[in-house]
Amino acid sequence: MKGMSKNKIITAEMMFEQAKTYLSEESLALITKAYNYANEKHEGQFRKSGDPYIIHAIAVGYILATIHGGPKTIAAGLLHDVMEDCDVSRETMVEEFGEEITTLVEAVTKIGNIKFKDEKEYLAANHRKIFIAMAKDVRVILIKLVDRLHNMRTLNFMKPEKQKKIARETLEVYAPIAHRLGMSEIKNELEDLCFLYLEPQKYHEIAHLVEVKKDERAKLVEKMIGEISDMLNKHNFKFRIFGRSKHLYSIHKKMVTKNKRFEEILDLYAIRIITETELNCYEILGYIHAKYHPIPGRLKDYIAMPKMNMYQSLHTTIVADEGNIFEVQIRTEEMDAIAEQGVAAHWRYKEGKKYSVEAEQKEIEEKLAWYRDLTTMTDDVDVSSPEDYMNVLQRDIFEANVYVMSPLGRVIDLPNGSTPLDFAYRIHTEVGHSTIGALVNGYLVPLNTELKTGDVVQIRTSKQSNGPSEDWLKIVKTAHARNKIKSFLQKKENENRAQFIEKGETMLRDELIRRNFDEKVWMDKGKIENVCNQFTVSNYNDLMYAIAVKSVNLQQVIERLTNQKMPTLLDNLSLTKLFQSRPKEVKKVTSNIGVSVEGIDSMMISFAGCCKPVYGDEIVGFISKGQGVKVHRKDCPNIIKEQRLINVYWDESAESKTYEANLLIYANDRNYLISDIVTIVSQCKVRLIGINSYVQNDRITAVIKLTVEVHSLEHLRVLIANVKKLNSITAVERVL
Ligand code: MN
Repeated sequence: MKGMSKNKIITAEMMFEQAKTYLSEESLALITKAYNYANEKHEGQFRKSGDPYIIHAIAVGYILATIHGGPKTIAAGLLHDVMEDCDVSRETMVEEFGEEITTLVEAVTKIGNIKFKDEKEYLAANHRKIFIAMAKDVRVILIKLVDRLHNMRTLNFMKPEKQKKIARETLEVYAPIAHRLGMSEIKNELEDLCFLYLEPQKYHEIAHLVEVKKDERAKLVEKMIGEISDMLNKHNFKFRIFGRSKHLYSIHKKMVTKNKRFEEILDLYAIRIITETELNCYEILGYIHAKYHPIPGRLKDYIAMPKMNMYQSLHTTIVADEGNIFEVQIRTEEMDAIAEQGVAAHWRYKEGKKYSVEAEQKEIEEKLAWYRDLTTMTDDVDVSSPEDYMNVLQRDIFEANVYVMSPLGRVIDLPNGSTPLDFAYRIHTEVGHSTIGALVNGYLVPLNTELKTGDVVQIRTSKQSNGPSEDWLKIVKTAHARNKIKSFLQKKENENRAQFIEKGETMLRDELIRRNFDEKVWMDKGKIENVCNQFTVSNYNDLMYAIAVKSVNLQQVIERLTNQKMPTLLDNLSLTKLFQSRPKEVKKVTSNIGVSVEGIDSMMISFAGCCKPVYGDEIVGFISKGQGVKVHRKDCPNIIKEQRLINVYWDESAESKTYEANLLIYANDRNYLISDIVTIVSQCKVRLIGINSYVQNDRITAVIKLTVEVHSLEHLRVLIANVKKLNSITAVERVL
């Protein structure tokens, strides 16, 4: 619709010219027939503007042709008001135009007759009615949206109250539908028109500010476009580049929601580059980032991770030489068509090709497979007939989201696959935390039940509930619920931690008393904090926690704290046994690797390369030929059948050493996955030795191999537990 004068009358010639660019003779004949029929039936009827009624029907047909609607869609668009306004019966319509077109017209008429009430809840209920009515055929939505668009363009001929009523309904019902379907061009125009009628003063204010700044902005953008074009031409790219302006309503909405002044919102200049291939997009991004300074964290790759409404593009924000900030979008022609027209782009035909029903079907089939990938639909649908294809397409669109209701009629919009728990958390966090059951349409259901559009959901809560558990994370679909559950679990863990700290204190106090130290002297926070760094913990609480979970040795803590070695008092049974057998060599028993061999003084001892034991693992020695004792994990498959085994023990020096371990992490691939993992590793004070990752053939599962250095098994377990908490991680395994 770009470049089209929105206030000029659209003529039948314009519509036919537009349709000729992509439709066959046969298809044009159908449109001509529909046009003549509508013209005849609307004869003598006039719009509020004084125009003949047919002008409206032509406009609807024309706009549908600009988005490359199929011939039946355009015919139905031309005929959309004849059944209601001209008393044409169903039988006559079927006789003239067949069942399919008649059904389309009927459905459009039906939506027009849904009455909207002012109260929010009733409006929401009607919202649902409209979705269900339209869900039967995507083409109905296209026609209805275009019908509404033209009515909004000509709204100035209505009475003011009527203008406001229609504008509000459009803003609350039709613009969101257009958005959901990715039809941003129509959505933006609808929103701006609504804005004009609902808040004329603000509309004109912003329009004025935009106008005043226009030339200055245009100059800056032109200059930048010139620079970028020169650079891209040098590299022989094929591309289009242009500046974009935000639509007025989006500026207004940003000012309100982000509480910013006009200048703050418009200090961003926007440029779009359209090129040939996906690869070109990334290459161009690379050249732009090399020439200009990209603002960190502003790069968004919607090509690899499309939005739910199919939108794909690369976004980045760069600072040019003079300090002006530009937002740059890079995408292919196809991505651009989908970004502007969304679902309507499904009806687009490759240039030069004429329209055919088979081509339309094939196109939908192709797009369908592609669209299904995006929404990661898992359940297989048997699509054996053309009608089924349409049904599945519709299902994809409407069930990318489900609309469910509270018993009071409040409509809640949730992603497909959501459960009563998602619903509960959307109502209120406390409702979520205290959920004990759910009723769907009056029946008690398991909490992992998938909700369907139209379901009425009632949550049962109890103050006695234990709150969320780890299992809930597997049930919920929304990030909102997931985050609330995670922070609840985190809080609970912190409380557990407090208990461990207390336990560590008790252990330390008891041991001091047992060793005849004055606990009043030594249970001193300052003194204890002084020795923390010797145990690689940062403060008193961490040390107490470490004592409780036995990641540090209590005896060593007391020795360092009191500065007295007490070699004869040991709390480790195996060490006691070992020392008893060779009491005089107590201090020398420690080996280089932290492991001692029972009953043998000096023997070459080393870790086996296969299973990489970590302090705390159950271990066993294997007497190798010529290479001394190799220390394996007890469950290492390499030694399970071996006879030449000998008992070995972790000795005193074991906990001051570090050990290598290998982990395999499985995850659903996403942005920042690796960096999130690396962050956790460093937060757990684990040294990272190696990292290696790849994405499996399914293009979903990422496998990351980590080699890390830890102090103990407990330390490794803490790391594993924390990695598992990351979003999209499916499994973490310690491997040989
Ligand atoms: Mn109409």
